Amino acid sequence: MSDTRKTYIIANWKMNFTVGEASLFLKKLSDKITPARDIQIILAPSTIALQPLSLQVNRREFKLAAQNLYHRDFGAFTGETSASQLRGVVDYVIIGHSERRHIFGETDKDIREKVAASIRNNITPILCVGETDDERNFGETDLVLYDQLIGGLSEVAAEDISKVIIAYEPVWAISSSKDAKLASPEEVSDAVRRIRAHLAHLHGEKAAKAISILYGGSVSPSSAGSYLMTEGVDGLLIGGASLIADQFTDIINISKGLKS
Ligand code: PEP
Repeated sequence: MSDTRKTYIIANWKMNFTVGEASLFLKKLSDKITPARDIQIILAPSTIALQPLSLQVNRREFKLAAQNLYHRDFGAFTGETSASQLRGVVDYVIIGHSERRHIFGETDKDIREKVAASIRNNITPILCVGETDDERNFGETDLVLYDQLIGGLSEVAAEDISKVIIAYEPVWAISSSKDAKLASPEEVSDAVRRIRAHLAHLHGEKAAKAISILYGGSVSPSSAGSYLMTEGVDGLLIGGASLIADQFTDIINISKGLKS
């Protein structure tokens, strides 16, 4: 955890919870969690729950994130939601999650257009990058990270680059992946160091130092502390454990303990 950069704890609820369930869950979290100034807790519910939760949420406690958006602002794009429609409802958006890349076939071009659209609409993009198990076994992790960073960030202007958050999420460690494995803190530290080196090469040392890099992949209360203490890691993107109020609360309390 860095002394200067904020810590982010992000709940990716994916396609879970009805609107009513999401609202009750937010109430439960709100009763359990007290805000801390240097920890930003972000909840990413399904698109349908964003508007009602935006009216319910205390933004000093939690911010909201979309799980996806479409890069065009308005028009004949059936079924899509744009950054300009999400503006004012969310402060963040998850872009390029491995499920979007691998289930829905999102390309680097799609992802960079979404990153650009979110910045254009004042929504902070959380760009997910990470190698598959095969890419890791073939020793391609560094190349994949470099390609995904160039692919996602090449339309971001120099003055906007530090607005981006990067989430390192090795696909093989995400709990929904077949035969998911736990990444060791050393593996996470190595990947985060590579990401920062690529960012320095592509966007300069200053940007590389300013950008927050999070870790995601089967994080639980028992592993959260070791990832948060890993050199260069500024927070966590959490799937499964964010759907269990006690586990998510424990992870937040662990991050508070480490920050104080
Ligand atoms: C994710 O899908 O972003 C994720 C990190 O999921 P999990 O924590 O369940 O591995």
